[in-house]
Amino acid sequence: MQPLHNLLLAILAISFVTFVALFGRLPALRKTPVGWLQRVLCLHAPNGLRRLDSQVTGGRITLKSQRLGTYLFYESNPVVVILFLVLVTGSAVLFLGNAYALLTTRLVLPLIPLLPAPYIFTYLCVAHTSHFLPLPTSLPQPEHYPYDHILFRPNTTCRTCDILKPARSKHCSLCRRCVDKCDHHCPWVNNCLGRGNYRWFLALLLSLPILEFYGAFLSWTIIRPHISVLPDKPFLSWAHFTDLGDAFVRAINIGGLSIAGVGLLAITTAPLPLALLAYHCYLIWAGMTTNESQKWADWRDDMADGLVFVGSKAVLRRHFAKQGGQSELAQMLGLDGEAVRIEWPIESDMVCVRTNDGAPPRGQEEMWRRVWRLAEVENLYDLGGWGNLVEVVMGR
Ligand SMILES: [Zn+2]
Ligand SMILES: [Zn+2]
Repeated sequence: MQPLHNLLLAILAISFVTFVALFGRLPALRKTPVGWLQRVLCLHAPNGLRRLDSQVTGGRITLKSQRLGTYLFYESNPVVVILFLVLVTGSAVLFLGNAYALLTTRLVLPLIPLLPAPYIFTYLCVAHTSHFLPLPTSLPQPEHYPYDHILFRPNTTCRTCDILKPARSKHCSLCRRCVDKCDHHCPWVNNCLGRGNYRWFLALLLSLPILEFYGAFLSWTIIRPHISVLPDKPFLSWAHFTDLGDAFVRAINIGGLSIAGVGLLAITTAPLPLALLAYHCYLIWAGMTTNESQKWADWRDDMADGLVFVGSKAVLRRHFAKQGGQSELAQMLGLDGEAVRIEWPIESDMVCVRTNDGAPPRGQEEMWRRVWRLAEVENLYDLGGWGNLVEVVMGR
């Protein structure tokens, strides 16, 4: 029984560590215990090991693991996609091979749509290419979103692709292309998630835990008859939990590792995609991509330092036009020419600028107002929770 106890603990520990490593860097969790643990795990511990390695082997292990890490997460490669598919397929084959005969047809039927779903959505994420902005420069760039003159300004060029970057786009150094409405590059699907395939990523994040919960439920259905706990201990006592744990391990023994082990793996890993989905639901509600949430976080920090000012685009445009429209600030803010009209449900007259010295742009003091909080600034891309969700579902 001891090995199974250890297996249970190992799976729980791996799930927890993965959760911390994945989510500790999110701006929302940066100043929480999850964020601190992430820094210990991903920054301080590796630094300590690196120092130890440099003393013992002259840094050879560090170099090799760095190369592997760079290849896996910072270079375009299908290793993570393949590992993920092998894990899902292996678990499904192992589980169904042993459990199929023990399950009724009614319990097996839901697997017909549930099992292929993660494969289909992974494929749709991986194979998508229409979010890459066209090359070369001569081709017209798509104009799906207006510039908000805060996060995105006209006149911004991608030096690698040599194109004028449309609003909400971002250059991905792994894909080596600019991506339309870039959310983030995902090693899981070896592709950038952006306009068109972000919705399939969300569908993957939803379909995977549903499959996992259902698999865990099936596993539970099979091993449940073997679990028996005597109700002689207070429910919330340590003794009761120990009893429950022992009964569970006994049941795993009886149910077999393929059934109970896969069920356990499913239930302990399902919260990961679910937590990621919850985070993306928050982003959709707030009307931003992951890329934009990082940009907003930077603006928030600068606002708190008193470095950010807002002005009116119309007023500033008039001001710059009177001066000939050629000033460096006018170009930097993208207010040096006529506004390009793009079909978008809402409008904003706001423009933001950050200054190094905390003083408004010189000679224009009366045209700028200092802002301290993000709440004082409009997010042009936020169409309201429902509106944002419709945009995402429609692949826009
Ligand atoms: Zn680019
Ligand atoms: Zn990418």
